[in-house]
Amino acid sequence: MVAMLPAWTATLDTAIAAGGQIRVWCSSCRQNRDVDLVALRDRVGGFYSLRNRRCRCRLTPGCPGWNEFDYLNGVFRPLREIEVVEWRLHRFRSAVGG
Ligand SMILES: [Zn+2]
Repeated sequence: MVAMLPAWTATLDTAIAAGGQIRVWCSSCRQNRDVDLVALRDRVGGFYSLRNRRCRCRLTPGCPGWNEFDYLNGVFRPLREIEVVEWRLHRFRSAVGG
């Protein structure tokens, strides 16, 4: 079974309330840093969600890469539901021999 994203990752409010940890990383320059959830909430509001988010790199000036988010659950895991979708599609294709 592939675990769905934990409930606390739904919004900034739930993540802060749960003491959750979220990290932003770059696919190009490989920099990463912890997201200051409280500071982010001050800017965008408590209902904001980091699930499935992607934005141009803000970690290194001039970097052409994409920033994505991970959440901490023992180890850092992608904060993306698409992972689950792709896994199911893979299983389906394997099952039908495609
Ligand atoms: Zn970068």
